[in-house]
Amino acid sequence: MNILVINCGSSSLKYQVIDSGSEEVLAKGLCERIGLDGRLVYQKAGGEKEITEADMPSHKQAIQMVLDALVNPGTGVLGSLDEIGAVGHRIVHGGEEFAASTLLGEEVLKAIEECSDLAPLHNPANLIGVRACQELMPNVPMVGVFDTAFHQTMPEKAYLYGIDYGYYEKYKVRRYGFHGTSHSYVSKRAAEIVGKPYGELKTIVCHLGNGASICAVKNGKSIDTSMGLTPLEGLIMGTRSGDIDPGAMEYLAKKEGLDLEGIMEVLNKKSGVQGLSNISSDFRDLEAAAAKDDHAGIRALEAFIYRAAKYVGAYVAAMNGVDVICFTAGVGENGPDTRKGICNYLGYLGVCIDDEANKVRGEERVISALDSKVTVLCLPTNEELAIARETVALVTGK
Ligand code: AMP
Repeated sequence: MNILVINCGSSSLKYQVIDSGSEEVLAKGLCERIGLDGRLVYQKAGGEKEITEADMPSHKQAIQMVLDALVNPGTGVLGSLDEIGAVGHRIVHGGEEFAASTLLGEEVLKAIEECSDLAPLHNPANLIGVRACQELMPNVPMVGVFDTAFHQTMPEKAYLYGIDYGYYEKYKVRRYGFHGTSHSYVSKRAAEIVGKPYGELKTIVCHLGNGASICAVKNGKSIDTSMGLTPLEGLIMGTRSGDIDPGAMEYLAKKEGLDLEGIMEVLNKKSGVQGLSNISSDFRDLEAAAAKDDHAGIRALEAFIYRAAKYVGAYVAAMNGVDVICFTAGVGENGPDTRKGICNYLGYLGVCIDDEANKVRGEERVISALDSKVTVLCLPTNEELAIARETVALVTGK
């Protein structure tokens, strides 16, 4: 069965068509600048990227262009749209309502809408994508796969903030966690690689990209993760601050004359390694600066690595041990120095990196030494494949 995977943002949309039998990507691409001038990128397996500039006033038009490209007699990969068996949608926030992927009927869409308060930048855009696909493919089943669902197994002691419990009862203010599809995929794949049952492993997944989070997976279940009510908590990220004393916000607001919106803009967009370095949010730029002994690049990288190592240590404590540590996403997959830097803090656990093996980018590989007490993996994530698998499982009931 062919699955169309859609990850819809407010002005962009990523897509892939995956043959669920072979798990091959038949075509992929993205629509950018939706609502502005519009740009479609389309790439067939083994083919060159094709770029089309075209008016895309709405998400519906953008998806229509994707569908047209997929059935284009010259470069398309499908004979007709009937060859799409189901559509899998990435949905960012499922609140407490969704602990698993689900078929998207009217009731479910309403419930997702109700979670939109918790993710005002993401959920409405995700829903626009679902509605547009429903209009264009009314008979094709739609499935929602939530970034938060995997973390719904977190115990109360891990998900509650230390604030008046009434805020949780009234408004569901608690930690939810994100990147769940990635943490789930990577931790499962890690169990396959080390050849041990998923249900018996203690795994820490470091999803280090522009957005970054770490997850403790014990016996196949997320028991804690570094992001919270929103994706702002936890690690220092590309442009997000991660953990910060809430008192610092009041102090800064007064000093800089900022209102709440201004403070949130600073914490989400002007902080992280970007803010710390004033060079870039991209680790390649920071590594280049650090290689030239530029202290601004060095301090950002060191702070990023230190925060990540502290979270790994915390999760070793939470699980009373760790068998496998995985590095994934842009920096985790492509940053040997970052991986090594984090693992250097973990010598007390018997973590030992094989420097030769660690010279890997974007490929599955064991990067720990043979005598390391913990297996360390470079393990590329594949959220689209995970979404396609969930979609097939729901549609076929298998
Ligand atoms: P993601 O959000 O997972 O797409 O990750 C994006 C980030 O990965 C970029 O901002 C870069 O900082 C980082 N990245 C990508 N390629 C490399 C590389 N070759 N070396 C170091 N960092 C990289």
